[in-house]
Amino acid sequence: MLAVASSLVSCHKGASFTSTDKIKVVATTSMAADMARAIGGDQVEVISLMGPGVDPHYYKPTAGDVQRLSDADLIVYGGLHLEGRMTQVFERLSDKSFSIGDQVDESFLITKDGEHDPHIWHDPYIWSLAANPLAKRFASIRNDDDDAKFEDNGESTFEQLLNFAFEINQQIQKIPENSRVIVTAHDAFSYYGRRFGIEVVGIQGTNTTAEAGAQTLKSLADMIAKRKIKAIFVESSVPRSTVIALQEAVAARGWKVEIGGELFSDALGDPNTPEGTYAGMLRHNTKTIVEALK
Ligand SMILES: [Zn+2]
Repeated sequence: MLAVASSLVSCHKGASFTSTDKIKVVATTSMAADMARAIGGDQVEVISLMGPGVDPHYYKPTAGDVQRLSDADLIVYGGLHLEGRMTQVFERLSDKSFSIGDQVDESFLITKDGEHDPHIWHDPYIWSLAANPLAKRFASIRNDDDDAKFEDNGESTFEQLLNFAFEINQQIQKIPENSRVIVTAHDAFSYYGRRFGIEVVGIQGTNTTAEAGAQTLKSLADMIAKRKIKAIFVESSVPRSTVIALQEAVAARGWKVEIGGELFSDALGDPNTPEGTYAGMLRHNTKTIVEALK
């Protein structure tokens, strides 16, 4: 009886993944989806729940999303409470959930008001720390010859991201040191700023669900006018109104600050554009920042 039972179990286990089955991955943000594709290659099928311009802090899963998450072999998400309204779903499906943020040692994380800043993808070095753990996770789902392939992908993604951090750093050097300030709608670029030596100021906090106070706007306008900062930036996933209000407040202080362009903060661009990939998004942001501030 026991032998039959165990052979049934192993048979079932073996049948759940053959080398032709793709691992079904549901990613929350487009950044998480990009990471899953880079590591999984042609062995995975990735769905991204949040498209271009979608704000993950606000995103509430639809009934269809919950179904897709339940049907997935693996859920890849940003974590660190980025997807604040999906916490319960992740807890319920914790057996097949992979939080990118949880792969990063706490000593690398930025803490604000007692909470970890979730915007880790803006530092390619920190983001790279999840590459090898995700490769291991894919390999554990499919226990066959493809393990090595996942490992190779994990290692090459890790190396690419490190080189990428170096490339961005070189671009940033073109900005005069006293002009290295990024003012944006919400506080998404602290990891970017820390890695590349740029001061970062968000009108709102790290979470877009918090209101921007009148006092914050006033002191920011004072700072920009006083330091004669050339440009401030709008974000693809946050309404422009607070940045426009800040621009007007600066004008009232006798300094003309430009809108330096649109940065991709919490979502990648359209899938059919260069900004639709992780690398393309960071290149776009860096180019926009350097052009506006140099
Ligand atoms: Zn954000």
